[in-house]
Amino acid sequence: MEKLRKKLKNISKNDIFKSFFIIFVSVITLFIFINRNQIQFYHNQFGSVTGSPLQVYFLDVGQASSTLVIFPDDKTMLIDTGSDDSKESLVEDLNLILAENNLSKIDLMILTHPDADHVGGTASVLNAFQVDNVLRPKVLAEGEPSIRDYLVSTTYTYQKAVSAISNEPNCTVKFVENNSWESGGAAVRIFAGDHETYSDTNSYSPFITVTFNQKTFLFTGDAPFLREEEFLNTLKEENLSLSVDFLQVAHHGSKNSTTEEFLQALDVKLAFISANSSTHPSGELLMRLENEQISYLCTKESGMIGVGVDESFVLCTLNESLDLPFIIVVLFCVSFCILKFCFSSQQKKMIYFARFG
Ligand SMILES: [Zn+2]
Repeated sequence: MEKLRKKLKNISKNDIFKSFFIIFVSVITLFIFINRNQIQFYHNQFGSVTGSPLQVYFLDVGQASSTLVIFPDDKTMLIDTGSDDSKESLVEDLNLILAENNLSKIDLMILTHPDADHVGGTASVLNAFQVDNVLRPKVLAEGEPSIRDYLVSTTYTYQKAVSAISNEPNCTVKFVENNSWESGGAAVRIFAGDHETYSDTNSYSPFITVTFNQKTFLFTGDAPFLREEEFLNTLKEENLSLSVDFLQVAHHGSKNSTTEEFLQALDVKLAFISANSSTHPSGELLMRLENEQISYLCTKESGMIGVGVDESFVLCTLNESLDLPFIIVVLFCVSFCILKFCFSSQQKKMIYFARFG
């Protein structure tokens, strides 16, 4: 006990400082290593995104999907409406973003396919906002009069969504078809499926591109491998080389979508995932992104994610995460400590030599 007390007395302030310094550097290194995917993003303020001519928001709707696009001419497009569980938070987030832009209506709502995690908030959105146009999948809800040989979904959530749409008096409703148009200088294109009918609902998901200032977004719904192949073939047939700056990863990062060939063919730069479950995004998908050196953000960790495009682009996330300015400040502090440490020990040495030299 006495020995220990003596030892503790002998520890100099310099030793304590050194130990704290080593712990500090180790913690920071570990922190940077854990967040290596995140630090490649520059997280800007929400205000910078809302000030951009083209804005895209990957809304946080849990294990579901809903994406809002605001075009430079203030037209709005909502792709999917999340699930029944997230309908209240979806309306809240839409209210916040639209109000920030002095907007109040949805010009176009696209329902990619009839699954409950993509159409669950449809009635709530229609109740809360004026929606002018709706594009719905070529899938009928149970009880709807049959049009040709269309697939019929027995999902109750889809039934509710379809009946909410048909009860809207001032809303034009059409099926999703190949289409393209321009909105305030941004080009929009919808690539619908090659076939009128598919055996699974996910395959109805269209591919939607939005291009502004040479930056391209690709939205994919829950499209599986088969539809990715169809899409790449269409591009080949049209001799269209598409370079995707921002990819919304299909099917919440499922292992059954987004092949490495797909990522390579489209030269994807950044990826966004709408997901929040123990199995999504899948390890297989994250590995493919890592192999292609594509950084990603997921609503599971980041909450709502906003992308603002002007000459360049800015990103914001609702949840705090380690960002580049923070890293720079930390590195500056660490360098300062190292310099101060070296300088003070050199000074001590000089005093020693002056005394005994
Ligand atoms: Zn889904």
